[in-house]
Amino acid sequence: MNESAPAHRDFVRQIVEDDLKTGKWDGRVQTRFPPEPNGYLHIGHAKSICLNFGIAAEYGGKCNLRFDDTNPEKEDTEYVDSIMEDVRWLGFDWEDRLFYASDYFEQIYQWAEELIRQDKAYVCSQSLDEIRAGRGTPVEPGVSSPWRSRSVQENLDLFRRMRAGEFPDGTHVLRAKIDMAHRHMLLRDPIMYRIRHAEHHRTGNQWCIYPTYDYAHGQSDSVEKITHSICTLEFENHRPLYDWYCQALGIHHPQQIEFNRLNLTYTMMSKRRLLELVKGGYVRGWDDPRIPTLRGLRRRGYTPEAIRAFCGYVGVTKHNATMDMGVLENHIRTDLNKRAERRMAVLDPVKVVITNYPEGQSEELSAVNNPEDAAAGTRSVPFSRELWIEREDFMVDPPKKFFRLGPGREVRLRWAYFITCTSVITDSQGQVTEIHCTYDPATKGGDAPDGRKVKATLHWVSVPHAVPAEVRLYDHLFRTEDPDEVSDPALDWKSNLNPGSMQIIPHAMLEPSLGSATHGDRFQFERLGYFCVDADATPEHPVFNRTVTLKDQWAKEQTKG
Ligand code: ATP
Ligand code: MG
Repeated sequence: MNESAPAHRDFVRQIVEDDLKTGKWDGRVQTRFPPEPNGYLHIGHAKSICLNFGIAAEYGGKCNLRFDDTNPEKEDTEYVDSIMEDVRWLGFDWEDRLFYASDYFEQIYQWAEELIRQDKAYVCSQSLDEIRAGRGTPVEPGVSSPWRSRSVQENLDLFRRMRAGEFPDGTHVLRAKIDMAHRHMLLRDPIMYRIRHAEHHRTGNQWCIYPTYDYAHGQSDSVEKITHSICTLEFENHRPLYDWYCQALGIHHPQQIEFNRLNLTYTMMSKRRLLELVKGGYVRGWDDPRIPTLRGLRRRGYTPEAIRAFCGYVGVTKHNATMDMGVLENHIRTDLNKRAERRMAVLDPVKVVITNYPEGQSEELSAVNNPEDAAAGTRSVPFSRELWIEREDFMVDPPKKFFRLGPGREVRLRWAYFITCTSVITDSQGQVTEIHCTYDPATKGGDAPDGRKVKATLHWVSVPHAVPAEVRLYDHLFRTEDPDEVSDPALDWKSNLNPGSMQIIPHAMLEPSLGSATHGDRFQFERLGYFCVDADATPEHPVFNRTVTLKDQWAKEQTKG
């Protein structure tokens, strides 16, 4: 996976290299990707996957896939399965190292008893509100819980009875006994276990107490002998606690390293919000091509190669920032430019009649499949008397700067002939219904033997040979760069959803070779962008998604204006 390695050595790789030099971990590099199975993976997770699996591969190490499944109410095997599929699709392999935090519940429990025996943990019987209030503020110390001085014996007894299911939810918690005046609020006797009489997707009803993220995460890392526990910046202030548990227990102690989350303009990565969009019917599902889930991007036509290259390009830093969506789009353009075969398709068709081309006749013309890839060869495209061209490629009364077709003008039809417009037929509303042209048989292939030039080359599709198809065009999911930017405080982020984020063209016209395209095939439609066959497509009803336009749309609008 070398494309995911950035050109310069980032600070995480620098730490790994330094550790290899000093022999800190006996030459081992062991990382993990630790998703919570409570949603589908998005492109932010891809950054973490590329980093963890990438570093392991680059330095002769291993990377585990570990489900951080300590929150039974929100988790589901549906998510477990989708996460595995998406990590594989992205191109990474955990081999035989598939783990679950729930596999370690017994060990994690035993370590909790160990902390109780050391008088470093106690059962607290305050309510969650009382515990919160007792924590103090960043400038005021907290106050000790009245249960803080319970004896080791009493704590052990209560904790075992918590496990045995004797108490209802919310009656007791296990807390680490650290320091109620600690300058890090998170170290003011944090909760280690809570009572949840909930069924877990893997352990069923075996447990009714569940460890908190902070307690379970580091201990899971420790069990797996992780060397570098790489996570996102919001966990930076949890690191002292991560370190405290490992030190207090005297167990293998990985180094936690924090990097910046990926954020992109005009979209968002919060699993909670993505869930809201899916459950609320704002989008068509977890694989809606407008959302940044890996399934959505895949359905949109993104390739794993482009996503890995993008993740390598954005790199890792210690500062949160928002990346321009255009940067992601450029990576898929670069990738597809090399490998997507070119085809012709007309999205908004208007008919051209070549009046000097014999009725009932047609011919096969040769078209280059990919100018970037000689091995892609050529295909034949049928030409006939009646053709579809793009409505916007014609104007009855073109202004000076419009170089495409108009009365009396000559243009080139891609891979075909020069044509000249001789007359136009319009309906009662002035809408163009037919454009009459003549063609110059001497310009076959697209060049004039007398050397005369034309200013435009249009794409086209032969009317009797055309394959009608549904084409879906996409725009940003949100109208604003930052979905949280609302003008009225009564509105929420959903008010910024872009109502025009999907445009469906029911009757586009495609060149006949596209009729045999199947799900997942990718093409460049000349002048229109990169497209892929959608999962909804059938042989009777082809459906294509536009992955991305050929040029940055924003840049195009700038020149238009
Ligand atoms: P959310 O905060 O939306 O609930 P999460 O980040 O907690 O999601 P996890 O399943 O815990 O989701 O994430 C697994 C790993 O992916 C974590 O190590 C997390 O730091 C990393 N990750 C999640 N989102 C991003 C992001 N936007 N950029 C980089 N890494 C991310
Ligand atoms: Mg998380």
